[in-house]
Amino acid sequence: MWSEFIDFSIGASFAYIVVRLPILMFPRMRSWNDQFSDHPSPIALDPYLIQRVLHMRMFFWTGLYFASLPLFLGWASLKYGDAAMGFGLWVVSGWTIISRIMSAIGDDGPPWTKQLAMRLQKVRNDSQSDNPCCDYSLPVWEVTAVRCSTCRKVLLAEARPDLGRPRSDGRIKGIIRLLITDGRPVAAPLGEEE
Ligand SMILES: [Zn+2]
Repeated sequence: MWSEFIDFSIGASFAYIVVRLPILMFPRMRSWNDQFSDHPSPIALDPYLIQRVLHMRMFFWTGLYFASLPLFLGWASLKYGDAAMGFGLWVVSGWTIISRIMSAIGDDGPPWTKQLAMRLQKVRNDSQSDNPCCDYSLPVWEVTAVRCSTCRKVLLAEARPDLGRPRSDGRIKGIIRLLITDGRPVAAPLGEEE
């Protein structure tokens, strides 16, 4: 009984981590983050940041391809080996695929979307327009909102999701945190008025 439970848990955990590997691994290479300030300091709102939001979105969806590995291993385990582990692999990878596809239809999607990239681009355009928030408008994305670092005005009340920078809390803690939050911001966004 216990050994089956443990086998199921191993299969389920493996599947859970594998589908998140693109987000956990790909954007964190040092060379990929040279243009950004270190986590968790505010990150300047420039074309690199907007591109990063779109890359994170791509890595999120790449997870669906990665889900085929635990699905296949689950099938092989169910057929030839350990049924409990195979069931764990199947349940979690299957559930992830279904919930991600459903989230594309509903509004419970990933924290990185095209709409978010467009809203960030608009803030950037506004700060470079004839009517910026102040004379030295310099938007940066802080934990709870995009603010002008000169006049401190809130330019976009959107809490910052994980942006793939190597995390300041260290590799292991950072990975655990990402596995729990799925990259979503932990802080609530600020009100626009503040
Ligand atoms: Zn300003």
